[in-house]
Amino acid sequence: DMLRTPAAVQDSERHTAHNYHPLPVVITSAEGAWVTDVDGNRYLDCLAGYSALNFGHRHPTLIAAAHAQLDRLTLTSRAFIHDQFADFCRELAALCGKDLVLPMNTGAEAVETGIKVARKWGYQVKGVPAGQANIVVAEGNFHGRTTTIVSFSTDSDARADFGPYTPGFRVVPYGDLAALSEAIDEHTVAVLLEPIQGEQGVVVPPEGYLPGVRRLCTEREVLFIADEIQSGLGRTGATFACEQEGVVPDMYLLGKALGGGIVPVSAVAADTDVLGVLKPGQHGSTFGGNPLACAVATEVVRLLATGEFQRRSAALGERLHAGLRGLIGQGLVAVRGRGLWAGLDIDPALMSGREACERLMERGVLAKDTHGSTIRLAPPLVITEEEIDHAVAQLTAVLAG
Ligand code: PLP
Repeated sequence: DMLRTPAAVQDSERHTAHNYHPLPVVITSAEGAWVTDVDGNRYLDCLAGYSALNFGHRHPTLIAAAHAQLDRLTLTSRAFIHDQFADFCRELAALCGKDLVLPMNTGAEAVETGIKVARKWGYQVKGVPAGQANIVVAEGNFHGRTTTIVSFSTDSDARADFGPYTPGFRVVPYGDLAALSEAIDEHTVAVLLEPIQGEQGVVVPPEGYLPGVRRLCTEREVLFIADEIQSGLGRTGATFACEQEGVVPDMYLLGKALGGGIVPVSAVAADTDVLGVLKPGQHGSTFGGNPLACAVATEVVRLLATGEFQRRSAALGERLHAGLRGLIGQGLVAVRGRGLWAGLDIDPALMSGREACERLMERGVLAKDTHGSTIRLAPPLVITEEEIDHAVAQLTAVLAG
């Protein structure tokens, strides 16, 4: 009996650009926190689609909403109004505590939307002279892959040879309020930050940083844009990572889990004085806010409105982090994170993050490396205590060699 995986891996690489280096697992079905490959092996999914699968694979409520909507209406474009739009916008705005939302598709589009809105707000509301707006961002950021967004990346893989770059961004060290204050001037329209830096390795800023950013932004008439595309919607044990620092940004950027792991759905949420600067014809997207996306995302918002997933993430996150902290000195040099979200630095003398992920895969646990010896765990929030213990046990075995 021949294994299907080797040929399927080869086939999958033959006609695609090699812009990813996936683990050699070919998945064919999934449910909850588990996926099954083409050879029938099961794996505990500890990446959850980079947090797009916060509710697990094929959450029954979300799948039912998608099926029902597929049988009625999938796309209208925003040239017309459809009957799934109002509920989605109202309920997401309420979840965010903001007046308005603007739906897009991918995270990068939400970021681009935030940048455009902040610039227009700067010119029309703050009174920045034409073409002079700047936005302050952080070293180690990850906000997506468009030409404008990679223009202010500090990761050379993400940025090199994609120029000419979009001007108007200033990069300061993450977590450094003095540097941020220094960088803000009268032409600054926004500070754009991840409240916890996901791709950088789940980097939590120092105590008091986010409240300090909030204070500076308020004092200097600058919008605080929180990119909660990876950190938001339950991942950290709250609806928003900002919330855990007692901070309310002017603009939330949301994506990933908003689409329930079914459809790409992203959004910008802000009050009328900010999002109200956009007028017809100034921004949009053919698929943004489509009926299928709204039907699924409204159910996502309703799942979050119960608070159940945030509570699970907080409680189970304690267990995950306690387990991981026990491995410091036993192959791990550091553990960071919050809720069901962890960045682990493996002792580089032992193995690379990639090798660790390959060995975890052989033991039936899927995770993803980032930056050398760091791996990130972000299991679906439906994971159980036993499954967390299982993941930690497999990691323990991998680190023990
Ligand atoms: N912002 C953050 C914080 C992210 O983690 C990501 C994706 O990893 C993005 C933006 C980009 O999202 P997308 O890949 O959907 O464009």
